[in-house]
Amino acid sequence: MPDRSRDESSLAPAHDELPVREELRGERPYGAPQLDVPVRLNVNENPYPPSAAVVADMAAAAARACAGLNRYPDREAVALRADLAAYLGHGLTADQVWAANGSNEVMAQLLSAFGGPGRTAMSFAPTYSMYPEYARDTHTAWAAGRRADDFTIELPAALGEIAARRPDVVFLASPNNPTGTALALADIAAICAAAPGIVVVDEAYAEFARPGAPSALSLLASHPRLAVTRTMSKAFAFAGGRLGYLAASAEFVDALRVVRLPYHLSALTQAVARVALAHAEEMLGNVAQLRAERDATIDWLRAAGLVAADSDANFVLFGVFADRHAIWQGLLDRGVLIRETGPDGWLRVCMGTPGEMAAFRAALKELL
Ligand SMILES: *Cc1c(COP(=O)(O)O)cnc(C)c1O
Repeated sequence: MPDRSRDESSLAPAHDELPVREELRGERPYGAPQLDVPVRLNVNENPYPPSAAVVADMAAAAARACAGLNRYPDREAVALRADLAAYLGHGLTADQVWAANGSNEVMAQLLSAFGGPGRTAMSFAPTYSMYPEYARDTHTAWAAGRRADDFTIELPAALGEIAARRPDVVFLASPNNPTGTALALADIAAICAAAPGIVVVDEAYAEFARPGAPSALSLLASHPRLAVTRTMSKAFAFAGGRLGYLAASAEFVDALRVVRLPYHLSALTQAVARVALAHAEEMLGNVAQLRAERDATIDWLRAAGLVAADSDANFVLFGVFADRHAIWQGLLDRGVLIRETGPDGWLRVCMGTPGEMAAFRAALKELL
């Protein structure tokens, strides 16, 4: 991977003289450093690439799609959405599922349809740092409630904030990024009942959840203003394929179809994602191993005298460091890239192969 660390957050000199929107002046492109180091544990990817057999199937499907690239792709991505519905289960059908280039694009579409001037989106921090950016980009006001010290959402406080702010859109990441915290279904249902607008449960890490952390998909039938977003970027080992999706009512999906760009999902993306879904069992084959790695990493960090948050995802938030940047830099100097994110003093590491995790532990031990 090329080293883009120098240019990714910098802008051409004249940028700030252009008549960009006031709220974008001085803003830098968002993103974790993409550095060419031996051990990359910073963006919650699945460390295991697809097998040679799956790669061959993907290449054949891509070749067939290429033979028709003179034509626009299926604008409605019907076959892919049917496959996604079958993968999700819960009796969902293609018209209740939507797909886009990553769940980030799905969330931008959500705010195009349900946010906008005079409207408010809300979440509970610390949480996914992209939500306020989608709000900014769609002229949607942003409101952030707080999570408790253990990163759970305290229901009475949350319901109070929702009553006070009357948000049009509530984002609930479960399991949450960067903390790994899953929400109880009863709490999600209570928030759905109280929220005046739509509720979006972002389940980017659902496949990594521990037993007993059920999906909000089971609430869809009884909550018409609820949507659940998923992604193939994490457990599904398809981050480079860019495929995110959403499940909701057919009427809800229709609202997203109105705001999507024409032919937003390329024929190549649709074809290759369908191959990945046809091999779901294999693509998800390392999830159990990554879960075990997560639990072992939490135990190891705690035994080393650190604080580690409970996690239902493929990463662990740990600390608490007086100078977290020094720890992050020390790890990087030893060839291990993790993420400097979350509340002050905390760092996030995502689960790699056993060899990568051994490298992480060895490097961190030297720094403690
Ligand atoms: C990684 C992540 C996503 C998914 O992003 P994609 O655009 O699908 O790659 C969504 N939500 C959260 C909380 C995430 O951490």
